[in-house]
Amino acid sequence: MDLHRIGLAPGSAGWLRFSFPGKAAGASEPAALLSLRSAGDMGFDRAGPGPGRERLLRGLGLEAGAVLGLELTHSRRVLFPAGPIEQGSLLDLAAAGGGADGLILGRDSGLFASVTVADCMPIWILDRSTGAYGVLHSGWKGTGILEEAVGLLGRRGGSGPGAISAILGPAIGSCCYAVPRERAESFASEFGPESVAKGPGGPRLDLRSANLSIARRLGLGSLLSIEACTCCEPGLGSFRREGPASFTRMLALAGHLPGEAAA
Ligand SMILES: [Zn+2]
Repeated sequence: MDLHRIGLAPGSAGWLRFSFPGKAAGASEPAALLSLRSAGDMGFDRAGPGPGRERLLRGLGLEAGAVLGLELTHSRRVLFPAGPIEQGSLLDLAAAGGGADGLILGRDSGLFASVTVADCMPIWILDRSTGAYGVLHSGWKGTGILEEAVGLLGRRGGSGPGAISAILGPAIGSCCYAVPRERAESFASEFGPESVAKGPGGPRLDLRSANLSIARRLGLGSLLSIEACTCCEPGLGSFRREGPASFTRMLALAGHLPGEAAA
């Protein structure tokens, strides 16, 4: 596996853009985007997008209806809708199956996949053999969703893990993620000893190490790791740092920006 690690570059526009690692096949690449804390909370409910989300999408030149989201449930469930998808079918897509934490779209869908995160890890994924792309929400309960997504891409026409390029986004680091001992023990037994770190006062989870070891075991073609802790970095939204009453959900998006449509 071809692995690149980078730090967080400052973003001035309210969002960051990352490039999928590995060699592009010539066609234009989907964008992997993450809103910053300065862009505001990206929560969405049936009443519609909030002002922060509307402003962000307008700045990117996107229609709110072109961005598909999910009712997140901290599961490992990934949706890859077959056939045409109606714009604006945001929450209904996931409600049909009781929620999901990952969404993959076909190369020519013309739509954006999205999840919101605030300490959980956003993982962007691209199958270079089919052009299918998507984004996953990977917290401690949902760790392993990367493997589900890779399996699904294979069953839906992909040529296997070697063709997959993924980006592990900013997430709460082991510096800040103290957890109860039982949770740490079950995490370590499933994802290996490197997925748990020792810290003052008890064990800490390392979501990044857990996902790196999953990616290595699967044999992904290329991986980019954005090595930043959401809880340490004030420019990012963090449930732990900001607290349950006022945390900032960041929007992680995958899709072809206007003017960069899939060729
Ligand atoms: Zn930290």
